[in-house]
Amino acid sequence: MTDQRHLEESTGREFEARVERVVDDGPTSRVVLDRTLFYPEGGGQPADHGTLTGEETWTVSDVQKTDEIYHTVEGDGPSVGERVVGEIDWERRHAHMRYHTAQHLLSAILFAEYDALTTGNQLHDDHARLDCGYDRFTREDLDDIEARMNELVEDALDVRWYTLGRERAERELDPERTRLDLLPESITEVRIVEIGEAQPDSDGRGKPGDPRPVYDRVACAGTHVENTAEVGRVEVTGRETRGADEERIEFVLEDE
Ligand SMILES: [Zn+2]
Repeated sequence: MTDQRHLEESTGREFEARVERVVDDGPTSRVVLDRTLFYPEGGGQPADHGTLTGEETWTVSDVQKTDEIYHTVEGDGPSVGERVVGEIDWERRHAHMRYHTAQHLLSAILFAEYDALTTGNQLHDDHARLDCGYDRFTREDLDDIEARMNELVEDALDVRWYTLGRERAERELDPERTRLDLLPESITEVRIVEIGEAQPDSDGRGKPGDPRPVYDRVACAGTHVENTAEVGRVEVTGRETRGADEERIEFVLEDE
Protein backbone atom coordinates (compact mmCIF):
# COMPACT_ATOMS: atom_id res chain seq x y z
CA MET A 1 0.00 0.00 0.00
CA THR A 2 1.31 3.43 -0.90
CA ASP A 3 2.59 5.43 2.07
CA GLN A 4 0.35 8.52 1.93
CA ARG A 5 2.86 11.09 3.15
CA HIS A 6 0.52 14.04 2.51
CA LEU A 7 -1.61 12.96 5.49
CA GLU A 8 1.23 14.01 7.82
CA GLU A 9 3.47 16.17 5.65
CA SER A 10 0.73 18.36 4.28
CA THR A 11 3.23 21.11 3.44
CA GLY A 12 5.69 18.79 1.62
CA ARG A 13 6.13 19.66 -2.05
CA GLU A 14 8.80 17.22 -3.26
CA PHE A 15 9.56 13.57 -2.51
CA GLU A 16 11.48 10.57 -3.76
CA ALA A 17 9.72 7.30 -4.50
CA ARG A 18 10.08 3.98 -6.24
CA VAL A 19 7.72 2.91 -9.01
CA GLU A 20 5.84 -0.22 -7.90
CA ARG A 21 3.41 -0.73 -10.75
CA VAL A 22 2.44 0.90 -14.06
CA VAL A 23 -0.97 0.31 -15.66
CA ASP A 24 -1.06 0.94 -19.43
CA ASP A 25 -4.27 2.77 -20.40
CA GLY A 26 -3.29 3.46 -24.03
CA PRO A 27 -2.53 7.16 -24.42
CA THR A 28 -1.92 7.48 -20.68
CA SER A 29 -0.55 5.33 -17.88
CA ARG A 30 -1.31 5.11 -14.19
CA VAL A 31 1.68 4.90 -11.88
CA VAL A 32 1.66 3.35 -8.38
CA LEU A 33 4.48 4.53 -6.09
CA ASP A 34 5.73 3.17 -2.75
CA ARG A 35 5.11 6.62 -1.24
CA THR A 36 3.49 9.83 -2.39
CA LEU A 37 2.72 13.42 -1.45
CA PHE A 38 0.12 13.72 -4.23
CA TYR A 39 -3.39 14.20 -2.87
CA PRO A 40 -5.91 11.87 -4.56
CA GLU A 41 -9.28 13.46 -5.34
CA GLY A 42 -11.69 13.00 -2.46
CA GLY A 43 -13.86 14.71 0.13
CA GLY A 44 -14.56 17.59 -2.27
CA GLN A 45 -10.86 18.38 -2.67
CA PRO A 46 -9.52 17.97 -6.25
CA ALA A 47 -6.49 15.84 -7.09
CA ASP A 48 -3.01 17.35 -7.05
CA HIS A 49 -1.19 17.98 -10.29
CA GLY A 50 2.59 18.04 -10.74
CA THR A 51 5.44 16.00 -12.21
CA LEU A 52 7.32 12.75 -11.78
CA THR A 53 10.96 12.88 -12.88
CA GLY A 54 13.14 9.82 -13.53
CA GLU A 55 14.70 9.00 -16.90
CA GLU A 56 12.43 11.80 -18.17
CA THR A 57 9.79 14.08 -16.73
CA TRP A 58 6.12 13.12 -16.82
CA THR A 59 3.25 15.47 -16.08
CA VAL A 60 0.79 14.17 -13.49
CA SER A 61 -2.68 15.25 -14.63
CA ASP A 62 -4.84 13.28 -12.20
CA VAL A 63 -4.54 11.25 -9.00
CA GLN A 64 -7.22 8.77 -7.93
CA LYS A 65 -7.41 6.38 -5.01
CA THR A 66 -9.22 3.07 -5.44
CA ASP A 67 -7.40 -0.06 -4.26
CA GLU A 68 -4.17 1.96 -4.60
CA ILE A 69 -3.22 5.54 -5.39
CA TYR A 70 -2.85 5.96 -9.16
CA HIS A 71 -0.93 8.89 -10.70
CA THR A 72 -2.03 9.50 -14.30
CA VAL A 73 0.78 10.48 -16.74
CA GLU A 74 0.93 10.74 -20.51
CA GLY A 75 2.53 7.94 -22.58
CA ASP A 76 4.15 4.83 -21.13
CA GLY A 77 5.36 6.52 -17.93
CA PRO A 78 8.36 5.36 -15.89
CA SER A 79 9.42 1.72 -15.51
CA VAL A 80 8.70 -0.52 -12.54
CA GLY A 81 11.56 -0.23 -10.06
CA GLU A 82 12.62 3.19 -11.33
CA ARG A 83 13.40 5.88 -8.74
CA VAL A 84 11.50 9.08 -9.39
CA VAL A 85 11.22 12.51 -7.81
CA GLY A 86 7.65 13.75 -7.46
CA GLU A 87 6.89 17.43 -7.35
CA ILE A 88 3.49 18.91 -6.47
CA ASP A 89 2.06 21.91 -8.32
CA TRP A 90 2.19 23.95 -5.13
CA GLU A 91 0.17 26.97 -6.22
CA ARG A 92 -2.81 24.74 -7.01
CA ARG A 93 -2.42 22.57 -3.89
CA HIS A 94 -1.99 25.52 -1.52
CA ALA A 95 -5.17 27.08 -2.91
CA HIS A 96 -6.99 23.78 -2.20
CA MET A 97 -5.62 23.82 1.37
CA ARG A 98 -6.86 27.38 1.97
CA TYR A 99 -10.29 26.54 0.53
CA HIS A 100 -10.53 23.32 2.52
CA THR A 101 -9.81 25.03 5.84
CA ALA A 102 -12.28 27.80 4.91
CA GLN A 103 -14.90 25.12 4.19
CA HIS A 104 -14.39 23.63 7.68
CA LEU A 105 -14.88 27.11 9.21
CA LEU A 106 -18.06 27.55 7.19
CA SER A 107 -19.41 24.11 8.15
CA ALA A 108 -18.69 24.79 11.83
CA ILE A 109 -20.44 28.19 11.73
CA LEU A 110 -23.47 26.77 9.92
CA PHE A 111 -23.79 23.98 12.46
CA ALA A 112 -23.20 26.13 15.54
CA GLU A 113 -25.31 29.12 14.54
CA TYR A 114 -27.94 27.79 12.10
CA ASP A 115 -28.14 24.12 13.11
CA ALA A 116 -27.44 23.42 9.42
CA LEU A 117 -25.54 20.23 8.63
CA THR A 118 -23.14 20.15 5.67
CA THR A 119 -24.28 17.62 3.09
CA GLY A 120 -21.66 18.17 0.40
CA ASN A 121 -18.92 20.46 -0.81
CA GLN A 122 -16.74 21.03 -3.85
CA LEU A 123 -13.50 22.99 -3.67
CA HIS A 124 -11.57 24.47 -6.59
CA ASP A 125 -8.42 26.57 -6.64
CA ASP A 126 -10.41 29.79 -7.15
CA HIS A 127 -13.89 29.19 -5.72
CA ALA A 128 -15.87 26.72 -3.64
CA ARG A 129 -19.42 25.72 -2.81
CA LEU A 130 -21.03 23.98 0.10
CA ASP A 131 -24.47 22.37 0.41
CA CYS A 132 -26.27 22.15 3.73
CA GLY A 133 -29.63 21.35 5.22
CA TYR A 134 -31.43 24.67 5.68
CA ASP A 135 -34.59 26.22 4.30
CA ARG A 136 -33.37 29.60 3.05
CA PHE A 137 -30.54 32.00 3.89
CA THR A 138 -31.28 35.70 3.60
CA ARG A 139 -28.75 38.25 2.31
CA GLU A 140 -28.32 39.30 5.94
CA ASP A 141 -27.52 35.71 6.95
CA LEU A 142 -24.88 35.54 4.21
CA ASP A 143 -23.35 38.82 5.40
CA ASP A 144 -23.26 37.50 8.99
CA ILE A 145 -21.71 34.21 7.86
CA GLU A 146 -19.06 36.06 5.84
CA ALA A 147 -18.26 38.34 8.81
CA ARG A 148 -17.97 35.35 11.17
CA MET A 149 -15.66 33.50 8.76
CA ASN A 150 -13.42 36.56 8.51
CA GLU A 151 -13.34 36.88 12.31
CA LEU A 152 -12.06 33.31 12.58
CA VAL A 153 -9.43 34.08 9.91
CA GLU A 154 -8.35 37.19 11.82
CA ASP A 155 -8.22 35.19 15.08
CA ALA A 156 -5.32 33.26 13.49
CA LEU A 157 -6.38 29.91 14.98
CA ASP A 158 -3.99 26.97 14.77
CA VAL A 159 -5.03 24.05 12.58
CA ARG A 160 -3.77 20.55 13.45
CA TRP A 161 -4.27 17.00 12.20
CA TYR A 162 -3.62 13.60 13.77
CA THR A 163 -5.11 10.11 13.83
CA LEU A 164 -7.32 8.69 16.57
CA GLY A 165 -8.42 5.12 17.14
CA ARG A 166 -11.95 4.68 15.85
CA GLU A 167 -13.45 3.90 19.28
CA ARG A 168 -11.97 7.02 20.83
CA ALA A 169 -13.08 9.10 17.88
CA GLU A 170 -16.60 7.71 18.24
CA ARG A 171 -16.59 8.73 21.92
CA GLU A 172 -15.16 12.20 21.41
CA LEU A 173 -16.40 13.58 18.11
CA ASP A 174 -19.76 15.21 17.66
CA PRO A 175 -21.77 12.44 15.97
CA GLU A 176 -23.79 15.00 14.03
CA ARG A 177 -20.77 16.84 12.57
CA THR A 178 -18.89 13.64 11.71
CA ARG A 179 -20.89 10.60 10.65
CA LEU A 180 -18.40 7.94 11.76
CA ASP A 181 -21.22 5.39 11.58
CA LEU A 182 -21.08 5.77 7.78
CA LEU A 183 -17.43 4.60 7.59
CA PRO A 184 -16.82 0.96 6.63
CA GLU A 185 -16.08 -1.28 9.62
CA SER A 186 -12.61 -2.03 8.24
CA ILE A 187 -11.52 1.50 9.12
CA THR A 188 -9.94 1.39 12.59
CA GLU A 189 -8.17 4.74 12.63
CA VAL A 190 -9.70 8.12 11.87
CA ARG A 191 -7.80 11.21 10.81
CA ILE A 192 -8.90 14.28 12.73
CA VAL A 193 -8.60 17.92 11.68
CA GLU A 194 -8.89 20.36 14.56
CA ILE A 195 -9.13 24.16 14.51
CA GLY A 196 -8.37 26.27 17.57
CA GLU A 197 -6.00 25.83 20.47
CA ALA A 198 -5.68 22.43 22.13
CA GLN A 199 -5.86 22.45 25.91
CA PRO A 200 -3.10 20.42 27.57
CA ASP A 201 -4.41 17.51 29.64
CA SER A 202 -7.95 18.12 28.56
CA ASP A 203 -10.11 15.97 26.37
CA GLY A 204 -9.34 18.36 23.57
CA ARG A 205 -12.75 19.97 23.53
CA GLY A 206 -11.84 23.04 25.54
CA LYS A 207 -13.57 24.09 28.72
CA PRO A 208 -15.92 26.95 29.44
CA GLY A 209 -13.83 29.99 30.12
CA ASP A 210 -10.81 28.78 28.16
CA PRO A 211 -9.59 31.72 26.15
CA ARG A 212 -9.32 29.79 22.92
CA PRO A 213 -10.93 26.37 23.14
CA VAL A 214 -10.91 23.96 20.24
CA TYR A 215 -13.30 25.55 17.79
CA ASP A 216 -13.91 22.64 15.47
CA ARG A 217 -12.92 18.99 15.39
CA VAL A 218 -14.01 16.62 12.63
CA ALA A 219 -12.80 13.59 10.72
CA CYS A 220 -11.18 14.60 7.42
CA ALA A 221 -8.51 13.17 5.12
CA GLY A 222 -7.88 16.47 3.32
CA THR A 223 -4.92 18.84 3.40
CA HIS A 224 -5.18 22.07 5.36
CA VAL A 225 -3.21 25.23 6.10
CA GLU A 226 -1.59 25.34 9.56
CA ASN A 227 -3.29 28.55 10.69
CA THR A 228 -6.61 30.15 9.72
CA ALA A 229 -4.74 33.41 8.95
CA GLU A 230 -3.38 31.66 5.84
CA VAL A 231 -6.93 31.34 4.48
CA GLY A 232 -7.07 35.07 3.75
CA ARG A 233 -10.15 37.22 3.36
CA VAL A 234 -13.39 35.36 2.56
CA GLU A 235 -16.19 36.66 0.36
CA VAL A 236 -19.54 34.84 0.33
CA THR A 237 -20.62 35.34 -3.28
CA GLY A 238 -24.08 33.82 -3.31
CA ARG A 239 -26.59 31.14 -2.51
CA GLU A 240 -29.08 28.99 -4.37
CA THR A 241 -31.80 26.51 -3.51
CA ARG A 242 -30.87 22.87 -4.00
CA GLY A 243 -34.32 21.50 -3.32
CA ALA A 244 -36.51 21.21 -0.26
CA ASP A 245 -34.54 22.30 2.82
CA GLU A 246 -31.21 22.30 1.01
CA GLU A 247 -29.17 25.41 0.37
CA ARG A 248 -25.92 25.97 -1.53
CA ILE A 249 -23.48 28.68 -0.44
CA GLU A 250 -20.69 29.89 -2.73
CA PHE A 251 -17.54 31.67 -1.62
CA VAL A 252 -14.19 32.89 -2.89
CA LEU A 253 -10.91 33.71 -1.13
CA GLU A 254 -8.79 36.74 -1.89
CA ASP A 255 -5.77 36.10 -4.11
CA GLU A 256 -2.51 35.48 -2.28
ZN1 LIG B 1 -12.41 18.23 5.29
